[in-house]
Amino acid sequence: MAEDNKRTAAARRQRVQMLKKCIILSAVTVVMLPVALCFILLDRIQNMDKTLDRLINQVETLTGIAGEQRQQLEELKSRTVGAENGAGKSVSALENTEYGQPETDSVPGREADPVSGPAEGIQESGRPENPDGQGEAEEAVTAAHKVYLTFDDGPSKYTDEILDILDSYQIKATFFVVGKESDSAREAIQEIAARGHTLGMHSYSHKYAEIYKSLEDFIEDYEKIRDYLYEVTGVESRVYRFPGGSSNSVSRIDMEEFADYLDTQDVRFFDWNISSGDGGAKLLSVEKLVENCTEDIERFETSVILMHDSAAKSTTVEALPTIIENILALEDTVILPITEDTELVQHIQRQPETAGDQ
Ligand code: ZN
Repeated sequence: MAEDNKRTAAARRQRVQMLKKCIILSAVTVVMLPVALCFILLDRIQNMDKTLDRLINQVETLTGIAGEQRQQLEELKSRTVGAENGAGKSVSALENTEYGQPETDSVPGREADPVSGPAEGIQESGRPENPDGQGEAEEAVTAAHKVYLTFDDGPSKYTDEILDILDSYQIKATFFVVGKESDSAREAIQEIAARGHTLGMHSYSHKYAEIYKSLEDFIEDYEKIRDYLYEVTGVESRVYRFPGGSSNSVSRIDMEEFADYLDTQDVRFFDWNISSGDGGAKLLSVEKLVENCTEDIERFETSVILMHDSAAKSTTVEALPTIIENILALEDTVILPITEDTELVQHIQRQPETAGDQ
């Protein structure tokens, strides 16, 4: 009997032990499992947060691009109407295009390097703020056709290359730059001035919606780019190009108001009468750019050619040597930087008696 009792007691103890183990295991499972799950979920949430941030950034970027392109489309429409009304086919459809183009990292090599060297009779007439340039520019003054190469939206990763090409032909151009403040942008702006080209203003922000909101907004942006260029180069820029040109259809304010304001600042604005066409969303071929830039030059005494110094415009840089060579090959034609002597090329018609009297 005692044996039996002992065995029963041992069995009970064993069962109790088992039960205890079960309870502990269950308790551990009940506590630990949710904790582990919590960790896993937290990690997931963090990952989703990051993804969400990325997506929000992308949406913001895309919204910006969409806005820009809508503006460009409006410009295109207005320019098309303008062209039909006799403004001429050379007036650019689109002017700004930093967006909407894939950036190319490598610069496609140019097949032919400039071989003809500086053309005879090409002289720099000096920037307005730097009249002690080089040479008397006698032939330039008397040439039948004066051509002004202008580059908008820079500086960009191509500025140095453009400057080298211009140097290799010993010609000067005009750069309408915007308020880019990186170290490389500052250096590029300094190079433009140091190498004797005309440094023009093309607004600080290049955001149509901001610049053209009101005269006050325009002035604020104008002063910002003017002061920035002076700070970086010591040059007081005296020429301005409106983003989208003075004939843009984006501004709700009469563009003449802004033009009148520039008069009060002793600043002249320039549009263009020949467009390279590189302002559109589509990257043009070198051949097309050369054709656009050169086919109409003989029609004008003064040709102001619109091009872009922009990271998306690789073919403009590729086409530049041929464009220059073709222009220099034309009879009685010179390439000059815009100066105080340059005949105005403006899209909006202004009353001479009101210009400059405010
Ligand atoms: Zn522009």
